[in-house]
Amino acid sequence: MDVHTLLQSLPELHAHIGSSIAPHVYWHLANSEGYKLPMRDYHEFVNHIVLSPDRKMPLKEYLDTIYHPILDKLSSGALALEKGVYETFGGAYRSNHITLYELRGNPMKHNKEGEVDLDHAIFAMLRGMERALLEYPKLRAGIIFSLDRQFTFEQNQIIVEKAIKYRSRGVIGIDFANYNKTGFHFKDYTKLVEQARDNGLKVTAHSGETDDTNDMWECIEYISPDRIGHGVKAAYDQKLMAELAKRKITLEVCPLSNLMTEAVKDDKEMAYILNTLYDNGVHFSLNTDWPETVKDAHLYEQYEYVLDRNMLTAEQIEQLIVWGFEASFIPLKNTSSNLYL
Ligand SMILES: [Zn+2]
Repeated sequence: MDVHTLLQSLPELHAHIGSSIAPHVYWHLANSEGYKLPMRDYHEFVNHIVLSPDRKMPLKEYLDTIYHPILDKLSSGALALEKGVYETFGGAYRSNHITLYELRGNPMKHNKEGEVDLDHAIFAMLRGMERALLEYPKLRAGIIFSLDRQFTFEQNQIIVEKAIKYRSRGVIGIDFANYNKTGFHFKDYTKLVEQARDNGLKVTAHSGETDDTNDMWECIEYISPDRIGHGVKAAYDQKLMAELAKRKITLEVCPLSNLMTEAVKDDKEMAYILNTLYDNGVHFSLNTDWPETVKDAHLYEQYEYVLDRNMLTAEQIEQLIVWGFEASFIPLKNTSSNLYL
């Protein structure tokens, strides 16, 4: 099968709003608002926010110095959110063969620290998605609300309540994002996650990206997620892989993001991880995490990256695409309409 046929319809299960908005859209948003940016020139700005093999950066440093202070800020407020989300979905469908897109974001990271009403921020995200869905009827899409491991329980509880409130408008699940700071434990979230699930939401969590597998074990034990974001460290824990396979938990693997943050050392280690997971019956899909903030890392390019370097075979890739669609949280994937009505 030629590559174009193999990659003609792709699922994207793990991408964050802040890192999915194209730099030229950010530039437009920043200049529309009149924000002062660290760089006056567009190309210098792109070089500053985009990671590449020549410009790797540890995850924590990227989150603390670029992602949260610059990208979250520029994608905050109702106008920026609507345009950012709209452009992201449309671009993915037009240029990357993405036909199913689950975009995630924490509404409280896009509301200018409380200056913007949370419901206005959420509606803006949904409006952006709806405009794209109307324009591209073959695109399936949904939004996942990310909780934050550094937030208080009460803050995260509000996010879950909002996710439940907007479920019928296309909020499809919840996620746990960011790195731990102050005594975060999955066990404190068992009840809240149950409440989300009882109300029709699906559950995923970032885990097993840079840390050891203890966090993944706790995640499985206390919140029993449908999927896990990253989870690549499981490749070094035989018992954990057996557990993931048994529970049919799909991993959202994001190859180039992990390589740029050095969560995974090099292509060789990535190839080892992908094949070890595959050989141990762990379901996983390929995703971007940061499609616009890593150079040449759009979803289509990530598949080409893996194929060109023989990290996986075409047959394995075909299987991964099927697993990705199967693990989707979007309830409308088998209906003729892509609209939440
Ligand atoms: Zn992520």
